[in-house]
Amino acid sequence: MTRSGLHETIRGRVLEPGDAGYDTARTVWNAMIDRRPRYIVQCADDDDVVASVRFATDHDLDLGIRCGGHGIVGHAVADGGLMIDLRPMGDVTVDPSTRRARVQGGALLGALDVASQQHGLATTAGNVSHTGVGGLTLGGGMGWLARQHGLACDNVISFEVVTATGEKLRVSADEHPELYWALRGGGGNFGVVTEFEFALHPEPGHAITAAFRFPLATASQAMRRWRDLNASAPRQATFEAIIGMEGVSLGLVWVGDPDDGDALISELADELADVAEPDLRSVKALSYLELQTREDDIEGHAWRRYWKGHYFSELGDDLIDALLARDGDDLPDVSLQAYGGAIADVADEETAFSRRDTAFELVAASRWTDPDDDVRRISAARNYAAPLGPFASGAYVNVLGDDGDAGIRRAFSEENLRRLVAVKDAYDPGNLFHLNQNIRPSGA
Ligand SMILES: Cc1cc2nc3c(=O)[nH]c(=O)nc-3n(C[C@H](O)[C@H](O)[C@H](O)COP(=O)(O)OP(=O)(O)OC[C@H]3O[C@@H](n4cnc5c(N)ncnc54)[C@H](O)[C@@H]3O)c2cc1C
Repeated sequence: MTRSGLHETIRGRVLEPGDAGYDTARTVWNAMIDRRPRYIVQCADDDDVVASVRFATDHDLDLGIRCGGHGIVGHAVADGGLMIDLRPMGDVTVDPSTRRARVQGGALLGALDVASQQHGLATTAGNVSHTGVGGLTLGGGMGWLARQHGLACDNVISFEVVTATGEKLRVSADEHPELYWALRGGGGNFGVVTEFEFALHPEPGHAITAAFRFPLATASQAMRRWRDLNASAPRQATFEAIIGMEGVSLGLVWVGDPDDGDALISELADELADVAEPDLRSVKALSYLELQTREDDIEGHAWRRYWKGHYFSELGDDLIDALLARDGDDLPDVSLQAYGGAIADVADEETAFSRRDTAFELVAASRWTDPDDDVRRISAARNYAAPLGPFASGAYVNVLGDDGDAGIRRAFSEENLRRLVAVKDAYDPGNLFHLNQNIRPSGA
């Protein structure tokens, strides 16, 4: 297909440098990313995706896939290549009788949450509504419902996929089962997902957030109590901690019966008060949809960003002390979110997503605006995260940066990685889909 052939074939829009809307379309969440695709194809349907994949192959162009644009290091934006922009394919259709949602490959989490809650239903989605269903789900998908219903990827019944050869496949437990296995955690390595079919769960939408803040100096004993209570917490609770300049906030997010949530929060408050008095206490009842958008502003676009991530299979006393040892300026804000529950009900070999014995996931996140601060802020984040490395049991693939093969080995168990390479060999031996946390085919 020639260049003009691409323009004629595509039902959506093809943007090239200089076109109106080109700069907006290449802008993603992390303002550090300033790449210029040769073509941005804003796909209207799966035929547009097929045409884009074939055009990229024919013209030997790097291929990026964009859904929500939240990928931390902006793999979606193919410098000098072709970016498939799935955002026009953002529809969500809910069938309340079967409790299923059909979600197009460019949908944002907010669209899934809103459409599901209209029927008193929900499935696991992440914590910020402008994140894409595509990248989040393909890498796993952690959210406030995961301890009750599993990760987002655990709730996918089927995928519609455009492969590296431009073929359209329906992928489920019975159709292309190895690909189905790989798409649940293996990221955008195997094709372009044009539609996800999700299982939904009854969810009346009652949530509570609780946070008790302590100065760094007195947080250590309180954090041990918080950790201990997490071990026996019901699945409706996801314990979370935020370590920042203003101290340490220890708390939880509850989605479920409010009375049960209040009881657990009182228990946590008593445990904490037993060792130290918090300098701030916040308990808020909110709807599930309010919960799902509460971080939208603070996690907004236009900031320069740098993240480091770790998984911890336990939060020992030494690790707690290391987390609280915050020497230096410009340190990242650190969040810890509890795993367990339904996430750990699934064996590691059942999906590509690995490290299901994780107790807590850490994200150390820095944001700033001045490019002159890049080196300083990035090295401060690395210096904070490095001493935590020896405690870590791996890392979440969706928060990896440019960690290359070492990052991939942190994200996947050895056995799952071996199997992922075999699926890559079968479905993308030429590594067309390499702009991602890349599973390299055995020939590469
Ligand atoms: C503010 C913020 C909050 C976050 N919160 C959470 C959270 O609560 N839980 C959690 O688990 N993660 C969370 N993450 C991490 C998030 O899951 C990853 O950043 C993810 O890659 C974002 O997906 P996206 O579609 O928005 O990004 P994009 O940059 O559009 O896509 C990222 C990559 O995913 C692949 N991809 C995307 N869509 C498709 C598709 N349809 N078909 C094939 N490949 C595709 C491509 O390889 C692409 O490069 C968060 C990230 C941010 C920035």
